[in-house]
Amino acid sequence: MNTKVLITDYVWPSTDPEREILEEAGFEVIIAPDSSEATLAKLASDVEAIMFCFAQVTEKVLESAGNCKIAARYGIGVDNVDIDKATELGIAVTNVPDYCMDEVTDHALGMIIALNRRLVPHTKKVTDGGWDDVVLDQPMHRTRGATLGIVGFGRIGRSLARKAHGFGMKVLAYDPLIDVGNEIDGVRAVTLDEILTKSDFVSLHVPLLPSTQNMISAAELSQMKRGAIIVNCSRGGLIVEDDLANYLASGHIAGAGLDVVEPTPPDPSSALLSQENIIITPHTAFFSQASTIELEKRTAQEVVRVLRGHKPENLINSDVLGRSRSGL
Ligand code: NAD
Repeated sequence: MNTKVLITDYVWPSTDPEREILEEAGFEVIIAPDSSEATLAKLASDVEAIMFCFAQVTEKVLESAGNCKIAARYGIGVDNVDIDKATELGIAVTNVPDYCMDEVTDHALGMIIALNRRLVPHTKKVTDGGWDDVVLDQPMHRTRGATLGIVGFGRIGRSLARKAHGFGMKVLAYDPLIDVGNEIDGVRAVTLDEILTKSDFVSLHVPLLPSTQNMISAAELSQMKRGAIIVNCSRGGLIVEDDLANYLASGHIAGAGLDVVEPTPPDPSSALLSQENIIITPHTAFFSQASTIELEKRTAQEVVRVLRGHKPENLINSDVLGRSRSGL
């Protein structure tokens, strides 16, 4: 019987790059027609690998995947797979942690610059026939010398800092793994309070965890400088969106850039959607042709490695070693 690999979902035009690698290795590719739990649980029952992007790989899906040896995330965040259950069942979980750093940091920096320059509301004024109606009484920072506060100083946070330095920004970072007062590549590590009170722009680059859920609510927004801008290209659920809408409406926060919201798609009645200086993109910060082709290939290569009994490049659940179904 063929070794089957299930692709739960993908958001790029074709699966040719990963299919080529998987078929050359002798595997059969099954593409799920939809990513409901019932469909995935049914299809997972005779596959040896699951490749997933935004689909939820739940306890039920994993339990029904009795032969599965690897759940390979097409992406970085692994909040949509039940890692504890995968480990318990001996299934390796992998991700591709560094395929889109340039894309996400371009997206975050692009949002900061566009929000600060008020490109969206000013364009709307002009397209609405109001060329002479723009009143220049809104906060607009000179980026050279402005302070960018980065929350989460991992791969993406550090990549953003390098680009922001190119604009002449002063960069502060908060990350529980870095001691306050340390300086890394010209970036000073500070407390979250200091990020909030000193930054003109705040950008979030943390994973969604119980400890980061709702980490920015009214209490934190009230600490931010009047006229500051906030950007979230990480995960929905980090910001309490109703609180953010209130702070945008009052003018305390001058702009918000969100590549991720919760729920998705956003509720049409969400007060965020009617704010003037907001940019919302549909979780596309990771995307470029180059980044997705790299992602497709590297995810498939992880599957081939594990199904051939080799250690994957990026194993998330190292506790699986010694008792994994693939013999790792
Ligand atoms: P990373 O693991 O390299 O860095 C994350 C950093 O966050 C770590 O240094 C960690 O110590 C820090 N952190 C954890 N809890 C924190 C807290 N409470 N406060 C401050 N810092 C905290 O991850 P990365 O590659 O930089 O990616 C960051 C996140 O970006 C991912 O988890 C993913 O959710 C998101 N992401 C989004 C897209 C997109 O398309 N929008 C694409 C890629 C990644």
